[in-house]
Amino acid sequence: MYKRDTIYYPQDEMNTVLLPVTLGCNYNRCAFCSMYKDDRYSEVPFFDIERELLNIYNYTERVFLTGADPMSIGFDNMERLLDIIHQHLPYCACVASYASIRSLSKYSVEELSILHKKGLRLLYIGFETGRDDILKLMKKGHTVDQAIQQANKLNQANLQFNSIIMYGIAGKGKSVDNAAATARMINRFTTNRIITMNLIIFEGTELKDMVDRGEFIPPKAGERLLELKTLLENLEPERPTIFDTTHPTNMVSVKGILPRDRNRLINRIVNL
Ligand code: SF4
Repeated sequence: MYKRDTIYYPQDEMNTVLLPVTLGCNYNRCAFCSMYKDDRYSEVPFFDIERELLNIYNYTERVFLTGADPMSIGFDNMERLLDIIHQHLPYCACVASYASIRSLSKYSVEELSILHKKGLRLLYIGFETGRDDILKLMKKGHTVDQAIQQANKLNQANLQFNSIIMYGIAGKGKSVDNAAATARMINRFTTNRIITMNLIIFEGTELKDMVDRGEFIPPKAGERLLELKTLLENLEPERPTIFDTTHPTNMVSVKGILPRDRNRLINRIVNL
């Protein structure tokens, strides 16, 4: 089922059972993103999801919902989906999914809490940057305040999430300020893990057109490393938080727990 559609999932979910929930991206406007440019958005019918679940080993303990933003299906459908997963996979203790700030804004804390109790245990969220001007330039569709608000709601609902941010995204000369602003944003909530990605200019994106027109100048390697270092220097998590640059786009692959490993991680970056 849906084998020919584009499927993306976090590298940490490489060995997780994948369950298609949405196809394509219902937003599809982020200037840097090429992932679903040619795919039409649709929601996988429940009949097909159930058929897929029938083919999954019923001792499965973890499921990743695929699609750019499965939370966009709304509370009633998410609740129904988690019930169906539980019915078919009674030992599944963790359902994980991508989520956007836009779709999370449609859920109340109570609804998020219900979904958590029904097995939704981990979200991966693209925050990208803590600067409003860059979010606007990249057409991300949310503001920094909205991002903090949704993150706080998840904290209240006890629903854990990983925060994906992107260095290089602010352009030449703005990276250090971007890192400080992004750290200020993340310091306002509790997140499981900070996952960094390095900006890549993909063909066919609006960002590529901006680069070609000279409207966006990507920072060079040295500036990007300085951005990572500044981010590490400014993050002040209240609880131990994993800092993870092992995604393949990164210039350096480090992983550790903040604040404990801060100096070790900074030393790895400055001694590259
Ligand atoms: S970054 Fe995510 S929300 Fe934005 S267009 Fe790409 S898949 Fe859609």
